[in-house]
Amino acid sequence: MAEIKDSLQRPLKDLRISLTDVCNFRCTYCMPPEYDYKFLNEKQRMSFEEIIRFVRIFKQLAVERVRLTGGEPLLRPDIEEIVAAIAEVDGLKDIALTTNGQLLAKHAARLKAAGLKRVTVSLDAVDPFAFKKMSGGRGSYRSVMEGIDEAIAQGLTPLKINSVIENNVNEEQVLPLVRLAKEKGATVRFIEFMDVGNKNNWHKEDVLSSKEILKLIETEFDVIPKDPAFYGEVASHYKFKDGEGGVGLISSVTQPFCSSCTRGRLSAQGHLYTCLFATEGTDLLTSMRNGASDDEMLELIQEIWYKRKDRYSEERFNQKQSRRGKVEMFHIGG
Ligand code: SAM
Ligand code: SF4
Ligand code: SF4
Repeated sequence: MAEIKDSLQRPLKDLRISLTDVCNFRCTYCMPPEYDYKFLNEKQRMSFEEIIRFVRIFKQLAVERVRLTGGEPLLRPDIEEIVAAIAEVDGLKDIALTTNGQLLAKHAARLKAAGLKRVTVSLDAVDPFAFKKMSGGRGSYRSVMEGIDEAIAQGLTPLKINSVIENNVNEEQVLPLVRLAKEKGATVRFIEFMDVGNKNNWHKEDVLSSKEILKLIETEFDVIPKDPAFYGEVASHYKFKDGEGGVGLISSVTQPFCSSCTRGRLSAQGHLYTCLFATEGTDLLTSMRNGASDDEMLELIQEIWYKRKDRYSEERFNQKQSRRGKVEMFHIGG
């Protein structure tokens, strides 16, 4: 089936699937630890079969890349089976996984055997105390480092590290994170702190811009800009002049990229969101469970995508926009 375009002429190329809303961390910018969270029950979450059926349906709409996320995707007991089944879907260009890395050492070999090519590990600090604080007191720096080493040893490469940097919180971690990436031959991608969800007490003063991050990096490293790998790639990439790996900058706040946003997001509950900052999604899972055929599901998704006009980041500082309720990040993944 041909590619579909939304009302702003953006194709649907990427599908992000949240495998679970549950997480073993409480990152301050995503699930602040001071809140109580209510999670979905087993029946409310998409089953293995439903996830794979969704991937096949989305594939028919010319989706090229699938990213597994969460919550923490490695908390799904059937994670390897899910990866293996998606790896068998014909014609997908890429299947990727974003994890906080805590359980990665245990899973890396089986993920590789299941057909995963590479992995993205979120890590916001190299200093163990700063790391503990960023993860809401739950993460073990040592376990994440073991996860990164094991992923590299298993060939889940090129490995990417995602780091959220907040002004006056962990900006002193920028250079150590770049040193770590260089040492491991990995790419560290700095994501500007975003106003996702309704709980992280975001203020624009807390954002350390990509421009400032790059300036900081250039005080110690020689980096050269690289061309984007594909249309809609969100990070601006730089490589080290004298080593493997590199740096990526995701300027979601200071240089929004809505005009080339090709991502649809399926929550663990099987709701389709057309933007990270959407208030509501469309419940596809209930339609599927009520017996909709593949053709009916395709029609439903097409209708949603045709109508899509989201461009939250480009309108962020418009009052009406920033005051409305938004879906929480751990429901739909990054
Ligand atoms: N638990 C997994 C992890 O942390 O890698 C996957 C889900 S997590 C929601 C996906 C990505 O979203 C992570 O890299 C995380 O750093 C990023 N993220 C979460 N909240 C964010 C925020 N407020 N601003 C920028 N990035 C955020
Ligand atoms: Fe969990 Fe990932 Fe959110 Fe951190 S960013 S709380 S690891 S879902
Ligand atoms: Fe895409 Fe929404 Fe982010 Fe814009 S704000 S890039 S439309 S997810």
